[in-house]
Amino acid sequence: SKKNTDTRATSICCYCGVGCGVLINKEKNGSITVEGDKNYPVNKGMLCSKGMNLHYTVNDKSDRLLYPQMRYNKSMPMQRVSWDEALDRTAAVFKTFINKYGPDSVAFYASGQCLTEEYYVINKLIKGFIGSNNMDTNSRLCMSSAVAGYKMALGEDCVPVCYDDIELADLFYVTGANPAWCHPILWRRVEAHKAANPNVRLIVVDPRVTDTCAIADLHLQINPGTDVTLNHAIGRVLIENGDIDAHFVQNHTEGFEKYSALVFQRTVAEASRICGVTESDIRLAALYIGEAKGFITMWTMGLNQSVVGVNKNLSLINLNLITGHIGKPGSGPLSLTGQPNAMGGREVGGLANLLPAHRDMNNPLHREEVQKFWGGTTINPKPGLTATEMFEALNDGRLKAIWILCTNPLTSMPNVRMVEEALKKAKYVVVQEISNKPETLQYADVILPAAAWAEKEGTMTNSERRISYLNKVVEPPGEALPDSEIICRFARKMGYNGFDYKDAAAIYAEHAKLTAKTNIDISGLNYDILKENRSVQWPYLKKRYIKDSSRLFTDKQFYTPSRKARIHAVPDEFTSERADNDFPFILTTGRIRDQWHTMSKTGKVNKLNQHYQQAFVEIHPDDAARLAIGEGEVAVITSRRGEVHVKVRLSAQIKQGVIFLPMHWGKILGNDLNRANNLTNDIIDPISKEPDFKYCAVNVVKF
Ligand code: SF4
Repeated sequence: SKKNTDTRATSICCYCGVGCGVLINKEKNGSITVEGDKNYPVNKGMLCSKGMNLHYTVNDKSDRLLYPQMRYNKSMPMQRVSWDEALDRTAAVFKTFINKYGPDSVAFYASGQCLTEEYYVINKLIKGFIGSNNMDTNSRLCMSSAVAGYKMALGEDCVPVCYDDIELADLFYVTGANPAWCHPILWRRVEAHKAANPNVRLIVVDPRVTDTCAIADLHLQINPGTDVTLNHAIGRVLIENGDIDAHFVQNHTEGFEKYSALVFQRTVAEASRICGVTESDIRLAALYIGEAKGFITMWTMGLNQSVVGVNKNLSLINLNLITGHIGKPGSGPLSLTGQPNAMGGREVGGLANLLPAHRDMNNPLHREEVQKFWGGTTINPKPGLTATEMFEALNDGRLKAIWILCTNPLTSMPNVRMVEEALKKAKYVVVQEISNKPETLQYADVILPAAAWAEKEGTMTNSERRISYLNKVVEPPGEALPDSEIICRFARKMGYNGFDYKDAAAIYAEHAKLTAKTNIDISGLNYDILKENRSVQWPYLKKRYIKDSSRLFTDKQFYTPSRKARIHAVPDEFTSERADNDFPFILTTGRIRDQWHTMSKTGKVNKLNQHYQQAFVEIHPDDAARLAIGEGEVAVITSRRGEVHVKVRLSAQIKQGVIFLPMHWGKILGNDLNRANNLTNDIIDPISKEPDFKYCAVNVVKF
């Protein structure tokens, strides 16, 4: 109640990339409650089930790590130590490895849930001072295909639209996404807009009938992995119908001739057979696009998490480009970011192939600029190990030490049993965590307790380039510290200068300065402005001569050298694992409505566990009948990499021959048979290095 409320602070929900504004009320007894912020432009007071229950995760400290722990060798038990002991020893071990095996023998594996300031200091530490680019995050498993797609098509990793374009669009093409469950508040805006405007249309592309399809005018239930073929076929029909924007294509794009020649190599009838949707539905989709005045494409993991994820992204962005639906109200590509701050992480260069402010690692001038700014060591031109590559390198001994923070790879990585083997072999594992639950802790040599959401301040950037400040409201429990503080203390133990920040605002100021004169320039931004304005979208220059930054490319000038957007003629090749007699089903994985990632937070909330209480597999009733498995019976699912035993849910809403497993469950009391990623394949997209989570061959039998 208001009477008991002590203070009230603004923040942002720490789950998905929608980035809803939250008000945190601190009660007199020290606990918190949350409510949606009515004044925040993204959600206008709304929160989804996960956001509404955020306070439980803060108030319930029962699983929190409270103090640093360490073991001196693998056969010794963990013991409580001081921060100094833990960090002194870790610095000594890191120095030994770096001296003996070189800087690339150590790595940091972080998270799209880190705050921007945290990303910044880790990136600075390893790239600018240790001299390795071995810093990657779980954003590699999430958005890296979209990053590459944007960069190749538009010359920059940028979402050109803003959420307010939703209310200006009259056609949404949602593909490889179930925003009704995974980006709920953004989806409420689409639903409300469509309900109020009967002319607004929705096309959904998904191998499953999801809740997102409930309001669809057209659902293309494609065969998994055939997205490029479908998008090309739609492109072909648009060209045939004369429904492209010839003036825009001519003046503001390059590559159209090659693209046009390519898409005409396959007939619509052929595409229809490959994709498993009717020719008339493909033509209808193209017709809707041709008639649209405002056309927004939306996508997420269904396109990104693929061995051809970049091609899928490019084939989709092509539809915006050939129709000229970009840089104008209600039009453009809108990738739905999975995590709350994958965008902020990229802004500071927090991936193994990036430098701060989206600078290129392979550009010597960019490397020199950053190196001079940081005043550390020479920046290595060679990209570092990406997420899956790090664990391969631990397995074969190239990598000696890994520092894992804010993520739970033993549930979330593909081919996860291999990852577990890798952690067993690692010489030194640091786990920086809030909870005592993640399985990674079992392999840790050092455990560092971190502060959680609302226990530290910092910034995040959501899917529409909106940067927001998150307040600290409560003290972290025990000796837990903010992640940036832990990293800075460690850097000082390593003897590096430049990690003596007064506070998070000072880290942010340094980051902002380093963005000057780049496409993502926020050199005019600081904590005072963020606190006063609540949020701003980038770019945000020192001299505010730039016009409104809510929508990019309104001048049709793209970030490529020619200033033209690039239409890429990407092949529709198939390079996933093929189903065969031994493994005849296709497995696709995904989320459920009320859980977040590996459940270390949402799994604590009783209300959220009611939706689905345990892992399950969704199978088409005809497939189940052939296998003689009934509803609720246990199925044994095997792939070339592992097995899973879970209860069956029959669903006519999935294609025959395809099964679906939620990705949230990990090991439970030593039993890993609920873990979907035992089965998934760790082959990766050659450009984005994102794994093929949405497609692998499996067998299903009754237990
Ligand atoms: Fe949080 Fe996303 Fe739900 Fe908004 S939609 S409340 S950001 S989980």
